[in-house]
Amino acid sequence: MEHKVNVPFPRRGCGYRELRADIDGALRRVSASGRYLLGAELAGFEAEFAAYCDNDCVAVGSGCDALELVRALGIGPGDEVVVPAHTFIGTWLAVSAAGARPVGVDPTPDGLSMDPAQVEAAITPRTRAVMPVHLYGHPADLDPLLAIAERHGLAVVEDAEQAHGARYRGRRIGSGHVVAFSFYPGKNLGAMGDGGAVVTGDAALADRIRLLRKCGSREKYRHEVQATNSRLDEFQAAVLRAKLPRVPAWNALRVRTAERYSQVLGALPQIAVPAAAPWADPVWHLYVILRANRDELRRRIERAGVETLIHYPVPPHRTPAYADDSGRRSGRTHPLSERRAAESLSLPSGPHLGDDAFQTVVAAVRAAAVGLPAYPAPDDTERATPGGHRLPLSTEIR
Ligand SMILES: *Cc1c(COP(=O)(O)O)cnc(C)c1O
Repeated sequence: MEHKVNVPFPRRGCGYRELRADIDGALRRVSASGRYLLGAELAGFEAEFAAYCDNDCVAVGSGCDALELVRALGIGPGDEVVVPAHTFIGTWLAVSAAGARPVGVDPTPDGLSMDPAQVEAAITPRTRAVMPVHLYGHPADLDPLLAIAERHGLAVVEDAEQAHGARYRGRRIGSGHVVAFSFYPGKNLGAMGDGGAVVTGDAALADRIRLLRKCGSREKYRHEVQATNSRLDEFQAAVLRAKLPRVPAWNALRVRTAERYSQVLGALPQIAVPAAAPWADPVWHLYVILRANRDELRRRIERAGVETLIHYPVPPHRTPAYADDSGRRSGRTHPLSERRAAESLSLPSGPHLGDDAFQTVVAAVRAAAVGLPAYPAPDDTERATPGGHRLPLSTEIR
C-alpha cells in the first residue's frame, strides 16, 4: 500500500540549497580555469581536509577506492583483513578489490565495534590488517584493536566513511595511521558526485597512494608500478571546499537531533535507541533504532507518512557477492550481525531535518509502538543491547 509521505528520509541537495551561492561560484571558478584534474582545488581541499583531520590527506575517486588503496601497505592476494560483519558492503568490497580476503567478525553485544576477542580469534598467519568501521558516525573502540594489532604486527586501517569530524577519546577520527573517508553525496561531508580520501600521518604511504591514484606515474609516461586511476576531480574538490567549513555546524545539528530522539524515544520499552559510548563523540551519520520484528514497526511508521530506511538489510557475508566465501564454507557465522540486519531501522535525521518533521517522526514512532511487546523480550536469551544502544528502559542518554 502506498502512503502519502509527510516526512521523507532527508534527500540530497539540502547542503547545496543552503550554500548555493558559494557552490555555484566554486563550480564557475573551475569551469573557467580550464583545469579539471589535479589542480589548485584538489591541492586546496587536501590541505584543508588534512588540517581538519590533524593529518596528511590524499583525495581519490571514491570511498571504496580510498579503502582499496590499502594496497599501498603491500596488502594483496593471499592476505586477509579482519573486518566487521555488520557494515556497509563497501568495506568488504574494497578489501576484495585489493585482492585480499575480508574475514568478518561480529560486534560486541553492547556496541557497534568489532568484538576484540573475535578479532583476535580470526587472526591467522595470513592476516595483515584490521579494518574497524566507525559505523553510523559512532567511533569504534580503537584502543583494544590497536593493542591487538600491535601484538600481532598488523596494520589498522580505519573505515571512517561515515564519521567525518567524530572523536575517539578526544582524538579526531582521521588522526590515526591510515583512515579512509567517502564524500558520497549523502555522507556528513558529501560531494556532488563521487569522492574519497586517504588520511594518514605516514608521509611515505601518502606518497605511494599519490603514485597509485595516478597510473603509477609521477612523471608523464614514466610508470613505476601497476596502478589505477582514481582522482578527486576539480569540481568535486571545489564543492567540498565550499562545504567543509559548514561540517562542524552540520554535525552539531546531527548530534542534537539524535540526542533529542534518544531522550524521547528511549522511554519506549518496545525499541532500543542509539547512545554514545563513553569513549565516543559521534557525528551520527544515521540514526538507527532496533526492534525485533522490525518490519511490523516499520509498516506502522510508514503508514503515518514517515519514510524509513534499513542500513543494512543483508550483511555482506549473506550477499551473493560472498556466496562462495571460504569463511562461510568453513562454518564461520556472524549471528549478531545477522540479528542487527534484521532489527535495524533508520529514522529520518540529519542537519536539515526541521522541528516539524522531528515532531512528526516522534509521534509516528510512539503511535507505532503501541501494543507491541517490549524489546528485548524478558525471556530473550540474548539480553545484551545491540549496537551502541542502551537498554530501552534506561533514561541515560550520554
Ligand atoms: C559509503 C561507504 C563506503 C564506500 O564509499 P563510496 O564513496 O560510496 O565508495 C564504504 N564503507 C562504508 C562504511 C560506507 O558508509
